Amino acid sequence: MTPTRFVTDASLALVARRLRQLGYDVELHRGARLEELLEAAARDGRTVLTRSARKPKRWSAVATVRVEDADPAATVRSVAGQAEPSGAPLSRCSHCNHPLRVRSAFEAHGEVPGRVARRGGPLWSCTGCGQWFWLGSHTDGLRAWFEGALGRAIAWPEVPPREEGRKTHPDR
Ligand SMILES: [Zn+2]
Repeated sequence: MTPTRFVTDASLALVARRLRQLGYDVELHRGARLEELLEAAARDGRTVLTRSARKPKRWSAVATVRVEDADPAATVRSVAGQAEPSGAPLSRCSHCNHPLRVRSAFEAHGEVPGRVARRGGPLWSCTGCGQWFWLGSHTDGLRAWFEGALGRAIAWPEVPPREEGRKTHPDR
């Protein structure tokens, strides 16, 4: 399946954020009218994610996914059941939708808390807004939210075991 790239408006902002965190490419046009979303979708080869039941004839060729459920978890489950993401979980910025770039602990110096940089494990920064991301209790909660919403385990980045820490303390 080819990945489905979406465009939506502020009424689905939380869903857009969750889908980005799951690896979907979701552009958010705040305050856009349905016609504007349809036009953007036609221009960029995207699918409109909308609460609207309307679909003007002029835009009949544009793919749309109608969201009827008010519950974000149910919506994410429904979208994940019919569309392929553009990347892995935590590969896109939840704020601006740009791809995240894997960064080294050296590059992260001063950008993330010291304990996070020292711990090892994946660090990312956004290629659009520059925001830094790392694994922690927030992403643990997010993973649990997704597994609850989807009703299955999902591939999720992990902090590698601390081999080196053990080697530097041989007598413990
Ligand atoms: Zn960003």
